[in-house]
Amino acid sequence: MIKKFIRRILGTKKTAGDHTQPVTLTAKQHGINPQLVSANAIRVTSTLQQAGFKAFLVGGAVRDLLLGIKPKDFDIATNATPEQVKRLFRRAFIIGKRFQIVHVMFGQDLLEVTTFRGASSDGAPKDEHGRVLRDNTFGEQHEDALRRDFTINAMYYDPATQTVLDYHGGIADIRNKTLRIIGVPEARFREDPVRLLRVVRFAAKLNFTIAQDTREPIAIMAPLINNVPAARVFDEMLKLLMSGHALACLQQLRKEGLHHGLLPLLDVVLEQPMGEKFVRLALASTDDRVKQGKPVSPGFLFASLLWHQVLEKWTAYQAAGEYPIPALHLAADDVLNTQTDKLALQRKIASDMRDIWAMQPRFERRIGKSPYKLLEHLRLRAGYDFLLLRCASGEIDNEIGEWWTAFIDADGAGREELLAKKPGAANEGPAKKRPRRRSRSRAANPAAPGKTE
Ligand code: ATP
Ligand code: MG
Repeated sequence: MIKKFIRRILGTKKTAGDHTQPVTLTAKQHGINPQLVSANAIRVTSTLQQAGFKAFLVGGAVRDLLLGIKPKDFDIATNATPEQVKRLFRRAFIIGKRFQIVHVMFGQDLLEVTTFRGASSDGAPKDEHGRVLRDNTFGEQHEDALRRDFTINAMYYDPATQTVLDYHGGIADIRNKTLRIIGVPEARFREDPVRLLRVVRFAAKLNFTIAQDTREPIAIMAPLINNVPAARVFDEMLKLLMSGHALACLQQLRKEGLHHGLLPLLDVVLEQPMGEKFVRLALASTDDRVKQGKPVSPGFLFASLLWHQVLEKWTAYQAAGEYPIPALHLAADDVLNTQTDKLALQRKIASDMRDIWAMQPRFERRIGKSPYKLLEHLRLRAGYDFLLLRCASGEIDNEIGEWWTAFIDADGAGREELLAKKPGAANEGPAKKRPRRRSRSRAANPAAPGKTE
């Protein structure tokens, strides 16, 4: 027993089949700071325990606690069924089809309570590539641990006794900074290819090394992502991009050969020096915002990722004789259509992206009432931040960004003065020598995208 314990702590190879009994770590051994655990999470576990059930914090929260990071949310695992959980709390809702879970609410705070899942049955329905479609059987705690993705995500913490239960050598992997999938890597990636993205996200976010056997199949299995429903890929991509480590994640995706086909147009973008610089700057600024606790808009993020593709198409439509504003909307349509199939971009996000793009030529019209109208635009801030990225990446002249910074800051007289300075021949995006006859009437209202849809 002691030998086994030491082996586990040191993370040496275990024989198969010793995952039914956990290693139990005391507060002194695991060193979790109980102050980092949310009071509501403790309310949930203690209510469940008082009703005679087992209840633990699980997953990312335990992992983060062990790393000394304050978890952003707390998931709870229990042997109570969803109905039993629901009955114990005033505001609790059973949600989910694929897996039933209970959302317990305290004010704004939401906690997810899941019932221990049973061993994945061979009979579970799968698609033709082996992806598990539905498997909602309940089970024992050790079976629940086995179904989780990585060893570091499969530990349970009981706030009452302050003990950690570790079934798969997660503690050792936390200490060695290793990301290791539980079970046979190929099989686990096949049953749920989203794990391919998760491995990359955690490696980049935690700065962990991917264990050799977990890593090997990644590039080979990458195409399996294509069979995952677009909405799940989108959720996972969003988590990746909003992790505060988006740049590191994308670099890791490329390193693992996973970026091809994920954001199809991004392949191309990252291969153009200008596009790459723009995407880098956008992600770096997103990461900064996340780290400072500022909100990040998914629309802004995706608008940035796909901008150079829009630019390319915008130029092409103009070269084919289209006027600048309609050409921009046609380009936006093309890019959004291609991405919607793959990523299930939600309507709201797609419309934010379109707004941000459509504002760009308007920043370049610094005459008459145009700049004042733009100041009233609901998404001015996002459009302006985007403009600054375009300047910083060298796509357009810095002078435009500086002019707008001054214009936004200035009072009435200051604005008149800036306008009177006649900021030169305002350039009109990629096609500077376009005839401007027809575009003028369009430019007065270019944010009305409906026309080209
Ligand atoms: P984050 O800090 O990003 O929320 P997390 O580990 O909590 O990380 P979640 O997506 O919230 O990630 O999932 C919670 C837990 O559920 C995970 O820690 C893991 O144990 C389990 N899990 C989530 N997705 C999968 C999956 N695709 N396959 C197996 N287990 C999963
Ligand atoms: Mg989580």
